[in-house]
Amino acid sequence: MGDEFKIYVHRLKDGQKEIIEETFSSDFMEIHEEDLAFSVPVKVHGEAEFVDQALLLRLDVETEATMPCAVCNEDVQVKVEVSGLCHTEELKNIKGDVFNFKDILREAILLELPSRAECADGKCPRREDIARYFFRS
Ligand SMILES: [Zn+2]
Repeated sequence: MGDEFKIYVHRLKDGQKEIIEETFSSDFMEIHEEDLAFSVPVKVHGEAEFVDQALLLRLDVETEATMPCAVCNEDVQVKVEVSGLCHTEELKNIKGDVFNFKDILREAILLELPSRAECADGKCPRREDIARYFFRS
């Protein structure tokens, strides 16, 4: 548990690659808002390596967010995928030989969120009601 999100740099110094294959509880997102929540585990797949005095991290991330439908306001599960997230951290900035990628991961997921969600794959059944309302003469 305590090792979550951590990369031990000394293990990588001899040019070894570390494969990252993890599933994290979405608790680390620390978001419990009315219009945004994370309840599905966050899957992370990628690798870490050490190149030119820097740690190079490449991650693919997969999870789901719960957002309200923009039309009917019901909760919608929205797939969130980040592919090829890259991060370079110079060795001199890594304190104590351990690099924690939690914040990078969290930020990347938040950046990938759609600005709006709609239920039924974008075909909210309430859409018609609303269209009728707007186009009524
Ligand atoms: Zn809807």
